[in-house]
Amino acid sequence: MRYISTRGTAPILSFEEAMLTGLARDGGLYVPEEIPTLTKAQITAMQGASYEDVAFTVMRPFIGDTFTDAEFRELIANAYATFGHAARAPLVQLAPNHFLLELFHGPTLAFKDFAMQIIGQMFQKALGRKGERVTIVGATSGDTGSAAIEAFRGLDNVDVFILYPHGRVSEVQRRQMTTPVEANVHALAVDGDFDDCQARLKDMFNDFEFRDRVKLAGVNSINWGRVLAQVVYYFSSAVSLGAPAREVSFTVPTGNFGDIFAGYIAKRMGLPIKDLVVATNQNDILDRCLKGQGYHKGVVHPSISPSMDIQVSSNFERALFDAYDRDGNAVAQLMTELGQGGFDVSQGAMQVLQSIYKSGRASEDETSDTITTFLKTTGELLCPHSAIGVKVADEQREEATPMITLATAHPAKFPDAVEAATGIRPPLPPRMADLFERPERLTRVANDLDALKSHITKALNL
Ligand SMILES: *Cc1c(COP(=O)(O)O)cnc(C)c1O
Repeated sequence: MRYISTRGTAPILSFEEAMLTGLARDGGLYVPEEIPTLTKAQITAMQGASYEDVAFTVMRPFIGDTFTDAEFRELIANAYATFGHAARAPLVQLAPNHFLLELFHGPTLAFKDFAMQIIGQMFQKALGRKGERVTIVGATSGDTGSAAIEAFRGLDNVDVFILYPHGRVSEVQRRQMTTPVEANVHALAVDGDFDDCQARLKDMFNDFEFRDRVKLAGVNSINWGRVLAQVVYYFSSAVSLGAPAREVSFTVPTGNFGDIFAGYIAKRMGLPIKDLVVATNQNDILDRCLKGQGYHKGVVHPSISPSMDIQVSSNFERALFDAYDRDGNAVAQLMTELGQGGFDVSQGAMQVLQSIYKSGRASEDETSDTITTFLKTTGELLCPHSAIGVKVADEQREEATPMITLATAHPAKFPDAVEAATGIRPPLPPRMADLFERPERLTRVANDLDALKSHITKALNL
């Protein structure tokens, strides 16, 4: 299996290289040269299987000879052993034919643990046998950072630096990043918003001298390994509801487009998915784009669903690459236009996108109202991100097809918004109940490339 860049000019890499590299050297994102498909029999065989077994079947065709089967099974087992639920990704019913896929039973209570835990295992294995050390730098709107720190803390061959927007993450998110005591973990509070953090991260990757000096590696949602790990729960949940004999639809609370793109990969692999619905908050560039209004950046309006407060959706580039018939030049051109404010999608590409993705948005009030309503009608306490998914799913779902809405975080990760909507302050699960007593460790850094670079090289003694 070979990996190519969405901008067409970076070297072609193996799975291991693409995973360790993150962003391609032409600024693009790595995607598999071809999408492997699973047979109906292979999908049927997932019925009743463990999450780990489904993960092996789904991911195996993508990893080439990076790991042996036995090694890969062991990495998968280690990754999900840290979860607080035996099913890993349990389904809960909300209404006739509407289901909630609970993706928040990992160590940091958000779906990003599904990808980050296995990425941590794969990095450790691949680097350990090469005797190499890398510096992982990530940008986060809150959940990626805590998931990355949790996955890499204390590992021998990595240092982790996480850039998060100062004052714009929830207290639980911040504490999950600032309380680990391991010396290889560094939380950096940047004076800016998430898009600034993401832009500085891209700057570091495009600074080849710095990139090579610190052996920079990325685990943001642009990392192909992350997208791949997320394909698994589309299969495990659909199969529980009768796939491949029965079609299902998914609604996905979306920010950087990584999670929903994993759904598209599942569909391409042969999972019978009818609709893939993108759900956004008031930062709705994706909803507007999918409704044919072009992709034009606005300013980020902080919301009660901060992990979706995004204007530039990095993984959307992968969707555009396929919509433009894998024309790297066309994608590079669009991204240049985006640097100047935005672009319009060609008619042909728009048709492709609209044939795959539907979309909707939820305002702040609609999000709160959904949390209130679903507590009353189902007893489920939804986090604000999941509530956006549920609201949009309710508008778009059809009676005949089961709708699975992805619950992306535990309500206790966003207690203020949940309490404002319901009067209930959701408690943290017992395994992390002392989070508020642990001492914090963080560094404030200016929204400036040179300041960040010098902080990182000093911390590494380079
Ligand atoms: C990251 C995140 C999202 C958005 O996921 P993308 O893959 O960036 O689209 C939604 N909800 C929560 C809780 C998240 O942490």
